[in-house]
Amino acid sequence: MASAVEDVLEGLAKSPAEVKVPITVAHGDGIGPEIMAAVLRVLEASGAPLEFEEIEVGEAVYKRGVTSGLAAEAWESIRRNRVLLKAPITTPQGGGYKSLNVTLRKTLGLYANVRPCVAYAPFVQTGHPRMDVVIVRENEEDLYGGIEHQQTDEVVQCLKLVSRPGCEKIVRHAFEFARRTGRRRVTCMTKDNIMKKTDGLFHRVFDEIAKEYPEIENEHLIIDIGAARLADTPEMFDVVVTLNLYGDIISDIAAQVAGSVGLAPSANFGTQAAMFEAIHGSAPQIAGQNIANPSGLLLSAVMMLVHLRMPEQAERIHNAWLRTIEDGIATADIFTPGTSTKQAGTREFADAVIARLGLRPQRLAPVRYATEEFAERELDAPAVEHRKAAAVKQLVGVDVFLHWRGTDPNELGERLKAAENACLPLSMITNRGVKVWPNGFAETFCTDHWRCRFHATPTGPCEMKVAPRQVLDLLKRIDGLGLDFIKVENLYTFDGEPGYSLGQGQ
Ligand code: NAD
Repeated sequence: MASAVEDVLEGLAKSPAEVKVPITVAHGDGIGPEIMAAVLRVLEASGAPLEFEEIEVGEAVYKRGVTSGLAAEAWESIRRNRVLLKAPITTPQGGGYKSLNVTLRKTLGLYANVRPCVAYAPFVQTGHPRMDVVIVRENEEDLYGGIEHQQTDEVVQCLKLVSRPGCEKIVRHAFEFARRTGRRRVTCMTKDNIMKKTDGLFHRVFDEIAKEYPEIENEHLIIDIGAARLADTPEMFDVVVTLNLYGDIISDIAAQVAGSVGLAPSANFGTQAAMFEAIHGSAPQIAGQNIANPSGLLLSAVMMLVHLRMPEQAERIHNAWLRTIEDGIATADIFTPGTSTKQAGTREFADAVIARLGLRPQRLAPVRYATEEFAERELDAPAVEHRKAAAVKQLVGVDVFLHWRGTDPNELGERLKAAENACLPLSMITNRGVKVWPNGFAETFCTDHWRCRFHATPTGPCEMKVAPRQVLDLLKRIDGLGLDFIKVENLYTFDGEPGYSLGQGQ
């Protein structure tokens, strides 16, 4: 399928004066309709050849009983136009409702969430006037799979899934973005000292792909110190690429440190579609008062114009916005006595931007989108999805998770000895990941969730080649002992390398 951008270009080539590009527009909830109205007026005034197709999303749709918050007609519009400009929505409290944002991102394959966080000192107050960071957050995987289970009386789990193609796409997106926008450095943040498989894969892929971009510096930081430095000295960062959950958290930190969550835009890119929205929510407490700041959504619309290859209009709006800020026109959330000259409502702020279309800022750096680099394919990275060649995969053991209300790991170890078979001897029991058998510590707290590892040995009868039927045999024996197995995780080697982690203390 051709991308929306290609379709647009094809259309423009035919009859540039007449062709209008349809985009889907969602007005959202709370302050959504006000800020969207302001943004659409600025877009129209800029001369961007756009046609707005409106859809209803959010609270009203949820209340009609559509648990996804998006009706079938809305999906049709988004899939037809492949570009969505979306105002924030109010997520109803309580169970039964799915997060509309997560549904949109995952259903449309919007794998990259790009969030520029820029300081506009002295016009917007910040402790970090030189800050200009772009967070590139993986948007589909990690703990956001929504795969959660209660397994025992006391333990629930959330599955963290990270794929190699997912890592490749987002890391490449970050480097391509850095290359096209002339940025110097990409910093990767993970917690691979603890999550060696999942975060370890992300870090490894980052190191592999970084080699293809020798002109761009690369570094890796553990997320905890990375987040601390981002809050403390954000000017040392340029582009940051990270997994979904960390990206969610650090992009809000970065936006807040830059000056205001109300200013930060975001773009969600996929290979088939893109969605643009402010990072803030629907701010229901200030809705309907004409005081909300439309800047986050307006700057998201600028990112949309760049994506749609309308760089002149993107540049006109962005520079007019910078000039507005510089002229001291401020909505209440960023009004600074002494620096700001006029407090404007949402509508008046949009009027001020429209009045400055064609002007450039004089103290803040003007933006330039109508350049050669931007004339190339824009912020959407090439859709490379290399599939890794299949490895030699060998079953070597199994982790059997038990719901057991006992407290003494030695008692459990003794009982399980009766279940093991010659190929699969019991090698370890952990509780919440900590080894408690053999040779556990009495001090370790144990809950009712036990991971029992049965692992082949090089000198055993199967050597290191376990057959699935031996796992089934083991499970039958465990069941026969009256023990409640709640989950089974096979242990494999891939090209001889263990595909599973050791127990803590093993
Ligand atoms: P919020 O971002 O709506 O508000 C946080 C604070 O920032 C409030 O004080 C608010 O008044 C202020 N604020 C936010 N945007 C502003 C703007 N443009 N101008 C001036 N001030 C602004 O976050 P919240 O209160 O945690 O969430 C409110 C609702 O929004 C919830 O239902 C939440 O689920 C939803 N939400 C939606 C999205 C989205 O649709 N993308 C994102 C986040 C939260």
